[in-house]
Amino acid sequence: MSSATAQSSSRSGNLDCSSYARGLYINGKWLPGKGIPVTDPSSGNVIAEVADGSVDDARAAVDAAAAAAGGWRATSPRNRAQILLKCFDLMMQRQDELAYLISLENGKSLADARGEVAYAAEFFRWYAEEGVRISGEFMTSPGGGNRIIVDYEPIGIAVLITPWNFPAAMATRKIAPALAAGCTVVLKPASETPLTAYALAALYSEAGVPDGVVNVLTTTNPGTVTAAMLNDSRVRKLSFTGSTGVGRLLLAEASKSVLSCSMELGGNAPFIVFDDADLDAALDGAMVAKMRNGGEACTAANRFLVQDGIYDRFVAGLTARMKALKVGPGTEPDTECGPMITRKAIDKIEALVSDAVDRGAKVELGGKALDREGYFYPPTVLSNVSHDADMAKDEIFGPVAAVYRFGTADEAVAMANDTEYGLAAYIYTQDIRKGMAISSRIETGMIGLNRGLVSDPAGPFGGTKQSGLGREGSHHGVIEFMEAKYIATSL
Ligand code: NAD
Repeated sequence: MSSATAQSSSRSGNLDCSSYARGLYINGKWLPGKGIPVTDPSSGNVIAEVADGSVDDARAAVDAAAAAAGGWRATSPRNRAQILLKCFDLMMQRQDELAYLISLENGKSLADARGEVAYAAEFFRWYAEEGVRISGEFMTSPGGGNRIIVDYEPIGIAVLITPWNFPAAMATRKIAPALAAGCTVVLKPASETPLTAYALAALYSEAGVPDGVVNVLTTTNPGTVTAAMLNDSRVRKLSFTGSTGVGRLLLAEASKSVLSCSMELGGNAPFIVFDDADLDAALDGAMVAKMRNGGEACTAANRFLVQDGIYDRFVAGLTARMKALKVGPGTEPDTECGPMITRKAIDKIEALVSDAVDRGAKVELGGKALDREGYFYPPTVLSNVSHDADMAKDEIFGPVAAVYRFGTADEAVAMANDTEYGLAAYIYTQDIRKGMAISSRIETGMIGLNRGLVSDPAGPFGGTKQSGLGREGSHHGVIEFMEAKYIATSL
């Protein structure tokens, strides 16, 4: 891929994409480079080319984070908070521009992209407020002989690795708490959506984040490049969001230097609809839980588990709503379902749908990739899906609603928990007592009880089982970037 090709197609709408591809961002400077083409998934066209970072670049990024660490740690929490608030303000001032960029490189609708920018910016506001309220502990030892003092200190240099599906929010959900805690960071964003990460890097600098506090590096060689950072003794934290498979590899790598790890991994969310649910509310929630980001979300409803008595009405209602969605390039204002990220993503969805159909699923809507340029899969509804289908175990990561049937609450709970994942679950019932009782039996880190959306910067986001370790957002998120220091004193 020549840079000339990238340049010639770099203007899209009002955006000159090449302006976001100035190079690696290390120590507040742009180190020019090429090698990673960035594609618009609605056309397959290359819109920019970003730098391909090497192991030496990664070392330079850690050098920069190390050089900046002392000054940032010594900056008062109030001054750090003011810089974070400025990041929030600038992101919201540029919400439209950032949303367009996200939509262009990721494919999600502009409405989803605007929502992502607001969500992503909110982490800066939340952690500006949280960062000035981090307190320690003080107590008399039970024997009465000494005092126990616990101080929370910044953990040190953090390596942050993020996926393509929320290119702004997955980065700020880590950067904001890390900076509030007093840590410096190196971010490795996904190669599919690097422009958003670089656009935000420029914005942090404008907001007053000192050089070296945030460094951003893209690479086609993530295994080797991140291993070099994880094995650098100055790095003390890995915070990863992505697939469970890559998460396992990174945990193994991080074990060599016994790094503190926060892992936000894959999901297989059940969406349980009881007979006594408010049908319209359940359908509203189902559309959000399934179709936010075109189904490309870790919290996406992967399995609709619907009780016998409401099953037919739920399938009919869901099919009607899915059918009404407007499919098109994310950047077109009326689009509700954009393209998938890559051809590979389409191939995976096709394989899962064909396996489910082979095992007896009925196609109520869609079911076949669209014959047009770009990577489009239509809103699809499958009913009577077998519990043996591959899509009952794997993330679909696309606009495919798979509906399963259950009879009793015990069956629903057993089906919901029959997965290695434990990220999110949704429950619809008008009996709140039952909803709370079922919530306590579901093995996930998050539950939407009569809600199709759980993400909130003020709530602890994260999974149980193989969906992850640790929490992001809320007070929990900043503690992930801190270490408790216990001082025993006789005073
Ligand atoms: P992925 O695991 O393929 O990639 C995630 C990141 O890891 C990317 O930056 C990628 O370049 C990097 N990477 C890949 N191989 C690596 C290696 N060997 N060493 C180091 N880094 C490596 O995931 P994806 O396809 O980008 O994102 C989709 C996945 O992310 C889904 O499984 C989804 O559920 C998950 N996800 C989870 C959450 C959450 O909060 N739990 C949020 C969003 C996405």
